[in-house]
Amino acid sequence: MSKNIETMTVVGGGLVGSLLATVLAKVGFEVEVFERRVDMRKEGINAGRSINLAMSVRGIHALKKLGIENEVMEKALPMTGRVIHPVSGTTLFQRYGKDDSECIYSISRSDLNKILMTVAEKTQRVKIHFQERLIASDFKKNRLVFQNDITKKQTVLSTTKIFGTDGSASLLRHTLRDEFGHEESESDLSYGYKELTLPAGADGGFLMAKKGLHIWPRGSYMLIALPNFEGSFTCTLFLSHQGELSFQSLTTSEKVTKFFKEQFPDVQKLIPDLTEQFFSNPTGHMVTVKCFPWHHGDQMVLLGDSAHAIVPFFGQGMNCGFEDVSHLWRLLEENICLDQEINWKKIFSEFSRIRKPNADAIAQLAVENFVEMRDKVGDPRFLLKKEVEKLLEKEFPGDYISRYGLVTFSRIAYSVALKAGLLEDEILEQLCCDITSAGQIDLVKARELIQKELAPLLKEEIKKIVN
Ligand SMILES: Cc1cc2nc3c(=O)[nH]c(=O)nc-3n(C[C@H](O)[C@H](O)[C@H](O)COP(=O)(O)OP(=O)(O)OC[C@H]3O[C@@H](n4cnc5c(N)ncnc54)[C@H](O)[C@@H]3O)c2cc1C
Repeated sequence: MSKNIETMTVVGGGLVGSLLATVLAKVGFEVEVFERRVDMRKEGINAGRSINLAMSVRGIHALKKLGIENEVMEKALPMTGRVIHPVSGTTLFQRYGKDDSECIYSISRSDLNKILMTVAEKTQRVKIHFQERLIASDFKKNRLVFQNDITKKQTVLSTTKIFGTDGSASLLRHTLRDEFGHEESESDLSYGYKELTLPAGADGGFLMAKKGLHIWPRGSYMLIALPNFEGSFTCTLFLSHQGELSFQSLTTSEKVTKFFKEQFPDVQKLIPDLTEQFFSNPTGHMVTVKCFPWHHGDQMVLLGDSAHAIVPFFGQGMNCGFEDVSHLWRLLEENICLDQEINWKKIFSEFSRIRKPNADAIAQLAVENFVEMRDKVGDPRFLLKKEVEKLLEKEFPGDYISRYGLVTFSRIAYSVALKAGLLEDEILEQLCCDITSAGQIDLVKARELIQKELAPLLKEEIKKIVN
């Protein structure tokens, strides 16, 4: 550790900021976190945006490294596959991985945030200041201005090391754009989302299969549901903001009831206060944020949604943010030597350079997965390819890993998962063009196609996975 121990300032005590604070404390720094909301452990507030989240290998890896995986997992529910609900009412189960061990976990956003904040404070090096909102920043003078949400009192903080984890509408990112001309784009999806709670049964039990992520694919829109610990499900309707069938057109209880009765009859029966919830719950927006560079000199770096908010269809936003933290942690470990000045500029620019292509890749994969979830999961041709894919994963373990598996169950770089996925599309296209069932594929041809480019790529990249 350097002789000059500086205090680290983290702006935003959400999921990524709270995790990062613990990592910085473990490395040996004193940390101050500024969070605009109240302390959700004391006052029951909504943790913002989605009620629950899907957590997978990349996110879990960061928790493991910190030794808090078990504590978090006690609050998580495994989901081993997709449960598809056609309009007809019968359901179809599509397993995610090779067996139950390859699953994703549903966890409440607020439970996770609370655990992460408490873990950070337990290091005794982290102080979280609640209801302190960043309202201005001046990097030339090393100053941040916070305003207390209750008293409106403003505090000017002199600080030289800033970590921006202030989410998708990041003020710090906007400052980089406005003051230093950094690249920035924010693309709004023309779709919105609305969350609805499907309650637990009278006995407290789950009213639908508990171990699945439920999907009602309906072409241009869809409904999904993730289980909650206490027996309920959080359903999320993804629908266009405007148009003939849209959030804008569903203006009355009658229209909402008719829509659900026709499209999601099973759900409509299980949510008694459907229309009340529909009109009282907010309609959320989804945005893809890109910017570069993610840092400013040796003073400031962005992580999580502030650098790369993505649409939620691959369940990777938080996972990607946690992976940012793991990578920054590794760079800190590699670059901090006893009694030597820390080269922050090198650490921040290396971090920004490594993470940017991967954040761009998962942003693209997330948009593509929306089309797959809402439009393709019920399509017979798509289902055949999925079956063939399962067979290839079994026949050629390690040489063929599906795009979904690479993103969700591995820590291979997202940019490589994107590239491998494109090779897989070509392989599946060639193998499925003249078959009607998975058993008919030509395994000799399959081996040839896989060994040509995909297997060598995966082998090479798996070696590069770092802690
Ligand atoms: C509908 C939906 C479903 C999702 N599902 C998943 C999923 O299944 N899996 C997954 O991995 N990801 C999912 N995501 C993405 C995930 O929510 C985000 O990637 C994750 O929350 C990013 O964490 P963060 O800490 O970077 O940002 P945030 O969670 O947004 O936290 C930012 C924090 O900064 C604070 N803040 C903001 N501005 C200021 C300010 N000026 N001053 C002080 N504090 C400030 C905020 O109050 C907040 O606490 C989903 C997102 C949505 C919208």
